[in-house]
Amino acid sequence: MFDSNHETTNGGSSDLRRRAFLASAAAAIAGLALWQWRKPIVMLAAPAAPGEPKEVTIVLFSDAGQRLKTERISKVVKTEDEWRKQLSANAFDITRHADTEIAFSGKYWNLHDKGIYRCICCDNALFDSSTKFESGTGWPSFWAPIAAENVTEIRDTTFGMLRIAVACTECDAHLGHVFDDGPEPTHLRYCMNSASLRFVKQS
Ligand SMILES: [Zn+2]
Repeated sequence: MFDSNHETTNGGSSDLRRRAFLASAAAAIAGLALWQWRKPIVMLAAPAAPGEPKEVTIVLFSDAGQRLKTERISKVVKTEDEWRKQLSANAFDITRHADTEIAFSGKYWNLHDKGIYRCICCDNALFDSSTKFESGTGWPSFWAPIAAENVTEIRDTTFGMLRIAVACTECDAHLGHVFDDGPEPTHLRYCMNSASLRFVKQS
C-alpha cells in the first residue's frame, strides 16, 4: 500500500532511511529549531508545458473519507498570479514556494477531530485523521497519506541535507517533508504544514 512506483521513490526504503538518518544527524548538530525555521527551497516537479496538460492518477475520496475510485485526471496548473489570488499569503508562500510555517503556529497541529485533510490549493484528498498522531513537533503529523497516489515525494537537498519533500500530486503544492521516525505500522512521519491543508470534519 505504501510502496509507490513513482520515479522519485525508486530509491526504496533503505535510501529513505539513509536520507532520514542524514537529516536527523544534521538536525542533532544544528539544533532542530534552527534548521526547521529556515525557508527550504524545493525543486518541484516541472509544470506541464502550455497546451499539454499532464495527466496524473489520483484516488478520489468523499468528504466522509470513503474511497471512491482511482482516476486519471489533468494536473491543476495555474499561474503565480492565479495562485496568489486564490490563497492567503501564508498558504501561497508555503504551497507554491516551499516555505515552512512556524512550529505550533498552524491550525491543525493540535487538532484531533475525525475527518480528512484536503489540499488547500486543489482539494485533492491527502490525509485521514485516523493516521494522525501526536509528534510533539508543532506540525500536523501523519504516518501515511490517504492514498499513495495522491502525494508525490521529491528529493530535497537544501541546507546540505537529504530530505524528502512531499507535494500534492494533482497540483504540485508543497505540503511538508516525510521522515522515517514515525510510529507503527509504517514508521513514517509525514510532517505537514497546516497551511497546505483544509480539514473537512466528519459529520
Ligand atoms: Zn493540490
